[in-house]
Amino acid sequence: MVDPLRFRGEISRLAPCEPFPASDTGGEMAATTTHPEVRSLAAVSRLTDKHGRAITDLRVSVTDRCNYKCVYCRTGTEGAQYAELPIADYLRMVRVFVALGIEKVRLTGGEPLLRKGLIGMISELAQMRTAFATEGTKLSPGMGQRLDIALTTNGHLLEDLAQPLKDAGLNRITVSMDAIDHNKFARITRVPDSFNRVLAGVRAAKRVGLDPVKVNCVLLRGFNEDQIVEFAKFSRDEGVIVRFIEFMPLEEDRVWTPEVVVRLEEILTALNTFQPVVPLAANTASETALRYTFQDGLGEIGIIAPVSHPFCGHCSRVRLTSDGKLRTCLFSQADHDLYGVLRRGGEDADLAEFIRRTVDRKEARHHIGEPDFLKPSRSMVHIGG
Ligand code: SAM
Repeated sequence: MVDPLRFRGEISRLAPCEPFPASDTGGEMAATTTHPEVRSLAAVSRLTDKHGRAITDLRVSVTDRCNYKCVYCRTGTEGAQYAELPIADYLRMVRVFVALGIEKVRLTGGEPLLRKGLIGMISELAQMRTAFATEGTKLSPGMGQRLDIALTTNGHLLEDLAQPLKDAGLNRITVSMDAIDHNKFARITRVPDSFNRVLAGVRAAKRVGLDPVKVNCVLLRGFNEDQIVEFAKFSRDEGVIVRFIEFMPLEEDRVWTPEVVVRLEEILTALNTFQPVVPLAANTASETALRYTFQDGLGEIGIIAPVSHPFCGHCSRVRLTSDGKLRTCLFSQADHDLYGVLRRGGEDADLAEFIRRTVDRKEARHHIGEPDFLKPSRSMVHIGG
């Protein structure tokens, strides 16, 4: 058995931080006109939190609607619960984030491919340039790199959209698939014949060059852990990176228990029954997945283990919900109403100030499995995974 953390480096355990107030609306602010150019923001230092983590990764939920009702994610009876905003308003907020140091933008939901205007949004994102050099110095306007633009989808509508997404400037795609067995897949998604739709989407994404295509599988004991080896074969046969994710307490229902989680070591044991696994070096320090291949070098497996091996010490992420709330951690107890600042007529400088103030107090770490764990104020589908 390989040491799962061999290439991970030190996973730091940070001290708990001050909690946020239960709601944060940004306080009173005079209505002002919006600056036409965000580049006029006087941001000279990159967005960081008080634990010294550079925040470079933004996930934006563009809709709270989803066409799947995955049994571990949703109750099956509730629909969208939160509003979606005009695409132009997401773009305005993203521009401010980019001016502060965001380099990667992942579009998610709900199901992002349901969102009208998504292709146009990606074209706009593709025009943006990063504002800081790798070591953190401020760049002159327009001198930065293109953003890394990614999307997470259930893949149901992907077959027809893969080419337009690629043409608009999408760099990478992650498709969620929780079984290879067709019947099991339909039982999980609660949508008939969903496997064939998603498989066609994965193949289309590969064909148009959205490479590497990543396939995310959330494992639950007694449910789909018998699919681990099937997914290993799928990675090798289809030329995709399969990533297993430990189930987190982020569901609408209350099905999470520590016993349901299929942990990293167990996943490795199952993979080793197929063929000995070999660890691969991390691509970046803040990478969420531990990477592996097989002895013959064919296939790539990632394991994302937030429950058994938390990686909060390297977290570089914040999230914007479909209704424009800033969330500093998946497990936050409070939303921060960034859109409220915009709606009340705030200038880009006001948005930037709100973002800086909120991100500064980003939670040190999550408390999954600890006695003081509190369920977050939103479930995964209403945050944007
Ligand atoms: N609809 C898109 C999709 O299916 O990928 C994007 C939204 S979905 C909420 C994002 C990801 O979160 C999916 O890969 C899903 O499997 C994962 N997810 C949902 N609930 C989860 C949980 N409780 N623990 C871990 N991952 C979860």
